[in-house]
Amino acid sequence: MSHTIRIGRWTAELYQRAIYLQKQPDPHCRDCQGNGEVAYGPGLGPFGEEPDIQPCPCWDPYRSLRIPLWRKPAPDGWPF
Ligand SMILES: [Zn+2]
Repeated sequence: MSHTIRIGRWTAELYQRAIYLQKQPDPHCRDCQGNGEVAYGPGLGPFGEEPDIQPCPCWDPYRSLRIPLWRKPAPDGWPF
């Protein structure tokens, strides 16, 4: 279970042990109109005529920044 916070083009997914930051597609992108996908010509795959859907160059869906969460040091004077 996680919570997601959006700040502009960035999303932060909050997990118990880490936070993942990821840049989202540019909402004003002329290539993908903000949905993050671009279709290239007829594909060469098994279905031949279908366009090849690729992530738009305005973002990288496989790249995120992971921030591990550690215990904070106890404040001065705490007995443990
Ligand atoms: Zn785009």
